Amino acid sequence: MKRERTYLDHNASAPLRPEALAAMTAALEAVGNASSVHAEGRRARALVDGAREEVAALVNARPSEIVFTSGATESNNWVIGAGWDTVLVAGIEHDSVLAPAAFSPTRCVELAVSPAGQIAVEAVEQVLAGAGRLGRALICVQLANNETGVLQPVAEIAMRARSTGVRLHTDAVQAVGRIPVDFASLGVDFMSLSSHKLGGPKGVGALVIRDGLDLLPMMRGGGQERRRRAGTENVAAIAGFGAAAAAAGRELRRAARLGELRSRMEQGVARLTPQAVVLGAGAPRLPNTSCIALPGTSAALSVIKMDLAGVAIGAGSACSSGKLGASHVLAAMGVPAQLMECAVRVSLGWNSEESDVDAFLEAWAALSGDQATSKTASPAAAPTRAGRATHMTAGE
Ligand code: PMP
Repeated sequence: MKRERTYLDHNASAPLRPEALAAMTAALEAVGNASSVHAEGRRARALVDGAREEVAALVNARPSEIVFTSGATESNNWVIGAGWDTVLVAGIEHDSVLAPAAFSPTRCVELAVSPAGQIAVEAVEQVLAGAGRLGRALICVQLANNETGVLQPVAEIAMRARSTGVRLHTDAVQAVGRIPVDFASLGVDFMSLSSHKLGGPKGVGALVIRDGLDLLPMMRGGGQERRRRAGTENVAAIAGFGAAAAAAGRELRRAARLGELRSRMEQGVARLTPQAVVLGAGAPRLPNTSCIALPGTSAALSVIKMDLAGVAIGAGSACSSGKLGASHVLAAMGVPAQLMECAVRVSLGWNSEESDVDAFLEAWAALSGDQATSKTASPAAAPTRAGRATHMTAGE
């Protein structure tokens, strides 16, 4: 059945799963403070600890390694602001990694990115060769990019970092729930998670901290989260996060479904608009994300027209409200400005169906029809030579 609206912006925020809504509604009735010893307090504590087990199970971490936060922005700010001498980041990271890295008094080293959007392992090796000069150092490498879906060689980097004493953090926000993520075998020290990208509520997430490691707390006060993160727990949000994690874990068994839907969508786009370019397609990608540039049509215009046609897609990272600007991720990949301005992001998720892809393609056909009409009507509206000449298939 065709829906009234087609929501294909799961990387910005996924719709709340019914399991999460039910868990939150029930938890809102829990009156106690999870730190209190009475029955009401113990009931709230049980909800928090149950969710901790569910989140830990999704990423194969120990429950003791999960610290609940207000979301991945807090998790990233916490780990990066924890007093390192050197922080190493690439320009494709999320703003909540780049901003604290640039703001903190530590030395910040930029890691090179290939045109396909992957961090070059050799570049990291080179930096690690001089690890003695870095002091207490942290490398931040996201697991998957929020705009292109490109997967990063985190395990390879972890292998090389291990013997140098340099710590490794991964922002796994976009990967978790879409591909299997294994904290224990990845070999990282810290991992950021966000509930709302996998169908849980907004405003809750976690930092996974490898057992045995210590991190200076960012929030001080009460003794919650084993003195690592002070503040009365948001029990309902945490319970919703746990339920979403459990549902996402069950769904991983049929993860191929998302990849099939995405292929169908990209094939349709190629048929309707052969001039369109999928950015990042030259590297391994998440199965749900597609960053598509339609030369000659600005991303802002595409998003608005698709929205009017009932289809929600993203432009840029769409993390800050109304953000329709140039993308620092695509810029770091060396995508020419004229192509970058045309890049939209289509991201599928847990409730996406074939009919959503059909609705998307119908709206996309109208969009490309408008483009053809405006080209005939006004030659000035045609794509510029530079925009066309680049015509990158991802990976170039
Ligand atoms: N990292 C990445 C890769 C993201 O996509 C986002 C959300 N857009 C964040 C971090 C921030 O997560 P949160 O919304 O939970 O603060």
